[in-house]
Amino acid sequence: MLPDARVRQRDYLLEIARALTQELDLDKLLIRILNIAVEMLSGHAGMIALRGVTEPWKVQVSQGLPQAFLNYLNPILGRISLPEDPARRTDLEEINRVLSEITFSVGFGGLNGVGLPLIAERRVIGVIYIFRNYASVFSNNDRSLLGSFADQAAIAVQNAQLYYQVRLQKQRVDALLDAVADGILIISPKLRIERCNPSFSRMITGNIENIQFRSHDEVISWAKPPEGTTLEEAVAGGWPLTPHAQLYIEGDLKRFTEIAPLPVGITYAPVHSSEGSLLNIIASVRDITRFRQADELKSTFVSVVSHELKTPVALIKGYVSTLRRDDADWDRSIVQDSLEVIEEEADRLTGMIENLLDATRLQAGGLKINRTDCQLAYLAKLVAEKLQTQTTEHKILVDFPPDFPVVLADETRLEQVFSNLISNAIKYSPGGQIKISGAVRPKQVILCVSDEGPGIAQQDMPHVFDRFYRARDAVKNTKGTGLGLYLSRSIIEAHGGKIWVDSESNQGARICFSLPRMDE
Ligand code: ATP
Ligand code: MG
Repeated sequence: MLPDARVRQRDYLLEIARALTQELDLDKLLIRILNIAVEMLSGHAGMIALRGVTEPWKVQVSQGLPQAFLNYLNPILGRISLPEDPARRTDLEEINRVLSEITFSVGFGGLNGVGLPLIAERRVIGVIYIFRNYASVFSNNDRSLLGSFADQAAIAVQNAQLYYQVRLQKQRVDALLDAVADGILIISPKLRIERCNPSFSRMITGNIENIQFRSHDEVISWAKPPEGTTLEEAVAGGWPLTPHAQLYIEGDLKRFTEIAPLPVGITYAPVHSSEGSLLNIIASVRDITRFRQADELKSTFVSVVSHELKTPVALIKGYVSTLRRDDADWDRSIVQDSLEVIEEEADRLTGMIENLLDATRLQAGGLKINRTDCQLAYLAKLVAEKLQTQTTEHKILVDFPPDFPVVLADETRLEQVFSNLISNAIKYSPGGQIKISGAVRPKQVILCVSDEGPGIAQQDMPHVFDRFYRARDAVKNTKGTGLGLYLSRSIIEAHGGKIWVDSESNQGARICFSLPRMDE
């Protein structure tokens, strides 16, 4: 039979242990443990120091100890290498000795203390230290009481620490899933969607609640046969046969709403338990629209280059071989006309090659702008006069207000812009007036080129500045690479300006651009 006091102590300890193991908030738990320990040993002050995950030992909670003492203590604790192995109790005794010495030396001479390690799963996770301010030494019973209590407290502390770690990990995973641009699905071994992140719900245009707990094939369905093996086919074939066997599939994903399917690439990766059973499959869904566009652009480039460059070369070759025929004696005027065509086509070829080179340079790293003082009215007139020689159907007019400000800009590049806009006006309007006008605003100048042709259709307006874009009519009736406006936009934007379509319906085309004024 245990003596009464011991029974009461044991019951007291059990009750405390129960209460402690329910507390999962580490800070609250430590305060409770310390309060109980101080009360149990009729102490006056105390503290608990814990081994940090990444930092050294540190006092986590204290009671009745002045801040100055703790400030003094923390760096010292940081330097003591506390043993992780509880078998090395001599080291712990050493800590007790150090602590007593410190207590004494900082003028707490009236205090005496007892310290005990907090041991959980055979690891020292911290120490608890209790001070009394009267001379009576701590008895063996005191020590054993604190010892049993410390063992219970250590388990509670470890639980709270683990709980905190798990919560932290969960928060990190949640934040990661919310932040990634790729769609992420966590799929059960029975191929049900257990979790879906916001990016995926945006991609498929459906609510997360509507996606979760559906079967995988209900959510991932393809508008046309995809490239690669579907998850269902792969699983039927025994996938994953090895722990790191990834699966990749690419295709057009059907969406929940009536909008065009989204080109995606999906990578499936298995997650196995340590025993090797399949826990989950993680699918990362990447929007590959841009890759597709780049691919299409590449093929457009090849077809444009081959088609547009071949035409002038074929014309030149045709005229040259006709002129060279031995059996013909050509009229001087015919020779003259033919040479003129050859020259024009050669110029066209040079222009096109230059545009292509500019477009490639632009992609490679931007456009260099050499700014000098530019008289835009003069520049516009120069280009207009040059291009007027190419047409008799059009009348090119230049209309600038007097005192048009000088603009700091790259003259050669702006000449290219005027030239592109006026050539378009000549090319796409059958005849009539082409007007180049300038207007002055407080912070910028605005230049417009307008014609009296069919204008730009509403559906083409958002695209005319895209690389290689040509309206359907233009493709049918005229020659061109679809680079003129793309280059013009790049040049204007490199100057800090903007370019836009300003056509009114049934009024012919009007393209305007702005350039910042630097004269204030
Ligand atoms: P490039 O200029 O490279 O020889 P392009 O003239 O076809 O070829 P852009 O100058 O970039 O290319 O013009 C793109 C498209 O915008 C044209 O194909 C045409 O459909 C339309 N467009 C441009 N200017 C006009 C205009 N003045 N009137 C009607 N459509 C136009
Ligand atoms: Mg053009």
